[in-house]
Amino acid sequence: MLRQRGVQVIGPASGDQACGEQGEGRLLEPLDIIAELKHLVVPAALQGRHVLITAGPTYEPIDPVRFIGNRSSGKMGFAVAQAAQEAGADVTLIAGPVSLPTPTGVKRVDVETAEQMRQAVMRVVAGSDIFISCAAVSDFRPVSAEAEKLKKTTHEHLQLDLEPTADIVSEVAAGENEQLFVVGFAAETRHVADYARDKLRRKKLDMIAANQVGEGKGFAVDDNALQVFWAEGEATLPQAPKKQLARDLMTLIIRRFDAENTTENS
Ligand code: C5P
Repeated sequence: MLRQRGVQVIGPASGDQACGEQGEGRLLEPLDIIAELKHLVVPAALQGRHVLITAGPTYEPIDPVRFIGNRSSGKMGFAVAQAAQEAGADVTLIAGPVSLPTPTGVKRVDVETAEQMRQAVMRVVAGSDIFISCAAVSDFRPVSAEAEKLKKTTHEHLQLDLEPTADIVSEVAAGENEQLFVVGFAAETRHVADYARDKLRRKKLDMIAANQVGEGKGFAVDDNALQVFWAEGEATLPQAPKKQLARDLMTLIIRRFDAENTTENS
């Protein structure tokens, strides 16, 4: 259960037990514990860096009680925020409506609509080094929200007039902060790799993490798998609890971020 939750477990060792039996269940020798810990304790690669992350769905109001939303739970974005914080970064997490606890040490800003998320991002992005856009932002919103609750007795048929929302990650990638490393997500029900590569180019991202959604995959589940693409390469992060996956993704991001900064500075 702990492994499922992303906790790293060291041991147990095998050998003589206090009860007289032989087998797994002994505490590891102190030197073995230290050796294992050395693999886990990575240098704080993002010390002094600011990482901005969006997570969760957005809700676009139809009337005071109804909205257009989606099945995003925010789990992946929250896990990525925790992984960035563990890597030493100063983290701002802009969250749509989700019921998740804030990861320790992370600054959280709650929003509801795509437009509120956009404005919150724009307020913070200038001072950021990495922007990770995990949020499942609604692509459309009602042109105008009704001031009063819609009554079914007054409408035989109801048509909603929708307009597109601003594409936050594209706006950020096209913005003035040229040093910013921009990571997008792509949740697809099919043609995952093709659609993701297309989004990488079209949205001018530095990296995109793609996953298959639908039929119990991707949204609102604890395990996930990711295919990650950047201009010169790709990597597959196999099925794992989202917390572990987020750490693996952060390792990839740090590697690419460092590579780009080294090239630019040399
Ligand atoms: O085009 P699509 O919505 O599939 O792209 C997904 C990526 O774009 C995600 O990184 C998501 O956070 C971002 N996005 C955004 N603003 C929108 C729609 C998507 O930032 N309005």
